[in-house]
Amino acid sequence: MAECKIYRFSLETSDGDASMKPLLGGKGANLAQMCKDGFPVPPGFTVPTNECQNYYSNGKKMSDALVVKLKEGVKFIEDKTGKGFGSNSNPLLVSVRSGAAISMPGMMDTILNLGLNDESVKGLEKITSNKRFAMDSYRRFIQMYSNVVCDIDHSLFDEIIEHKKHIKSVINDSDLSADDITDVVSEFKSIFKAKMGKNFPQDVYEQLLGAAEAVFRSWNSDRAIYYRSINGIPDAIGTAVNIQSMVFGNLNDLSATGVAFTRNPSNGQNYLYGEFLINAQGEDVVAGIRTPSPINAESVIEEESKNKTMQIVMPEVYNQFLALSKKLELIYKDMQDIEFTIENGKLYILQTRSGKRTAKAAVKIAVDMVNEGLISKEVALLRVDANSLNSLLHKSINPKAKKTLIDKGLPASPGAAFGVVALSQDKVKDYHSKGISVILVRNETSPEDIEGMNLSAGVLTARGGMTSHAAVVARGMGKTCVSGASGLNINYKAGNFTSKNGITVKEGDEITIDGTSGEIFLGSVETINPELFVEFKTLLDWADEFNNTKVRTNAETTLDAKVAADFGAKGIGLCRTEHMFFEKNRIFNFRKMILSTSKEEREKALESILPYQQKDFTEIFEVMSGLPVNIRLLDPPLHEFLPQKTEEMQELAKELNISLTKVEERVSSLHEQNPMLGHRGCRLGITYPEIYAMQARAIFEAACDSVQAGFKPVTEVMIPLTIDETELEKLINLVKQTASAVIAKRGINIDYQVGTMIETPRAALIADGIAKVADYFSYGTNDLTQTTLALSRDDSGTFIPDYISTGIFENDPFQVLDTKGVGKLINLSAELARGVKQKIKLGICGEHGGEAKSIAFCVNLGFDYVSCSPYRVPVARLAVAQAQIKKQTAK
Ligand code: PEP
Ligand code: MG
Repeated sequence: MAECKIYRFSLETSDGDASMKPLLGGKGANLAQMCKDGFPVPPGFTVPTNECQNYYSNGKKMSDALVVKLKEGVKFIEDKTGKGFGSNSNPLLVSVRSGAAISMPGMMDTILNLGLNDESVKGLEKITSNKRFAMDSYRRFIQMYSNVVCDIDHSLFDEIIEHKKHIKSVINDSDLSADDITDVVSEFKSIFKAKMGKNFPQDVYEQLLGAAEAVFRSWNSDRAIYYRSINGIPDAIGTAVNIQSMVFGNLNDLSATGVAFTRNPSNGQNYLYGEFLINAQGEDVVAGIRTPSPINAESVIEEESKNKTMQIVMPEVYNQFLALSKKLELIYKDMQDIEFTIENGKLYILQTRSGKRTAKAAVKIAVDMVNEGLISKEVALLRVDANSLNSLLHKSINPKAKKTLIDKGLPASPGAAFGVVALSQDKVKDYHSKGISVILVRNETSPEDIEGMNLSAGVLTARGGMTSHAAVVARGMGKTCVSGASGLNINYKAGNFTSKNGITVKEGDEITIDGTSGEIFLGSVETINPELFVEFKTLLDWADEFNNTKVRTNAETTLDAKVAADFGAKGIGLCRTEHMFFEKNRIFNFRKMILSTSKEEREKALESILPYQQKDFTEIFEVMSGLPVNIRLLDPPLHEFLPQKTEEMQELAKELNISLTKVEERVSSLHEQNPMLGHRGCRLGITYPEIYAMQARAIFEAACDSVQAGFKPVTEVMIPLTIDETELEKLINLVKQTASAVIAKRGINIDYQVGTMIETPRAALIADGIAKVADYFSYGTNDLTQTTLALSRDDSGTFIPDYISTGIFENDPFQVLDTKGVGKLINLSAELARGVKQKIKLGICGEHGGEAKSIAFCVNLGFDYVSCSPYRVPVARLAVAQAQIKKQTAK
């Protein structure tokens, strides 16, 4: 075992520094550094994180060596302060605080005023000539120690104080006299004795050991474990313990405690922002016992507090603090969150750390700091969490709004939306025509619901995962969506749904959904609008300087293509042609085509579809002129397009001049047990080559049209879901023959590429053969995840959460690429393909193309592009740059 060591800090001696966070924790390392830099920090020492690890590996026992070191540490503080631990004339009191390498605010325990007992409290009274202060410090300590170290319920102590205030007819704790508090102390001690069967510890070293051990234990409290699990912090690293001489913000009215940020953490504006409380200790602020006052004019929210700022009440100390906070920011080159205490007019800094901030503030601060010459563009780009940019592109729930939670589903498409509940498309249309905002609520959605989705403000489904129809289509539309809210029981007949916690919502009742968190609220909750502010644009422009991997978009409408282009997309990575048939007129012709029983009948129907396709493609080529447009031929199972309702079947029967029974028969003959593994993807092109021929014709006619109109179409045609190179070759030949015919007929030269999607394990495993015939690969990771894990992308949303909560999976593999399994197939197939075609173009177009970790994986494999839904383009631009910068620095 490594030698047991503690790390001392004081203005004269400092064993650590800011680079030692893994060992000393963030707090300990920064306290040591601040001492080195001459900041007014009370002396103390840090027990390093490896002692916490030892504590757990020793079966939750502190080593004898550590006990000896703790005593040495106390001696060090005694020497520095000239006070004595437990002394009844000039007592040393200490704080005992946790501090992990990665900040976990409020998750672990702290004990203040340690070192007080029946003797030392007299010493404290003597040197401060303040009995009330001494007794108040003692009662705070007993309460904290009892709660944190001995697990005695906090409220037992609160009740005693409340009772005392009641009998003394006072409102605030501070109005209780020294004698009142002396009574309270003895009542506190009685509680301790009753609960623990022994007296409150009078041995100050026993107190210290108990407190240090409690901090170690708090590393594994439920809340700390949960916090680590959601923030990806390893369990093994443990916490350090910081033991530091106390300074007293509650000594008198010249004393105070406070917290400040060097810039505004919610909007990133460059000014000191914070609050403070006169004659108080830190926990008074946390417990909300008294409302703190703003630190300066910039921090004032409520008019009435404007004369109570620290700037006005304690101008000298304020100016001193302002100067120190600026200096701290210069040293750490990041926005700092600083805890300070003023004792009898003298300022102390108790902690500094990088401050938590909103996505908006993160962007502004990063860009401002580059402009101020504090950090490089690379550092700025790495400072902003790419996935958090999602929240800047959509409305969000006002965090201050009052809300009643109905249930929680998956955060399928970000943003906040409210409206009245509609359980069917017809109801959506009904409300929409009256100008009422609507939320479409369904068990799941299908292409039938597309119009309803489009007219709704948001979509909520009880089933389906992150790549379910509802989720994919909503994201494509930039529409808020919560999917897979499995606690909801929808009763279409009764026209309502009920949640697990018994809330029933009727059609026509208002709800609000938050697609960023997955939460569903009753009624209309106040939202805030997104702002595309100037620093956001600047940061993304800087990101593009590092984007060797380009960011494209998944889009099939000109509207989506325009949105994506405005967000900086460099082309289209996936144009799903089947989505182009959802419109009523088109779906009718499409159904005619599907239900045709002969090639002639089918070709006739296809002829009526061709002009629509051609027009769509021409428009998209126009929006993306000069940038690649990757058009995928028909992919999904045909049953998704079949009519479900009798009226629709009747209409078709009439048009096709056959009986309703015949239509019903044809619909049922197309029924598949397992459509996702059925007649879909390019299997359709093999069975019905005329469908792919028509689509290829439309693409090349459109390309010729747009050349004629003066645009520069960059054409890519993609064959979906291939499983075999011979299958693929046949279809590529079909596309090439069609292209040649159109090019010859029109007399216009069109350069194009024909590629395929890698969406099945077989395709990945035989990628060398496939690469021989394909110009490029695009990884369809939605299907590749589904086919590799044998988990349905539409149904797994109900049980994947169990896999995450039990630690089997770290993430939902439909949200974050499963690099271990699916990634291995991608890696292997890329190697195989590059073996036969070194420069083969590789891209990704599954939903993972818009998720930061998955993007990093693609960048590391040297992909040419990632493609994602329009509203995720900014996230992808930043994520690509971050991965690229990390790749470069790792070299
Ligand atoms: C995929 O499978 O990843 C893909 C992009 O295709 P789709 O989602 O349309 O099946
Ligand atoms: Mg697919």
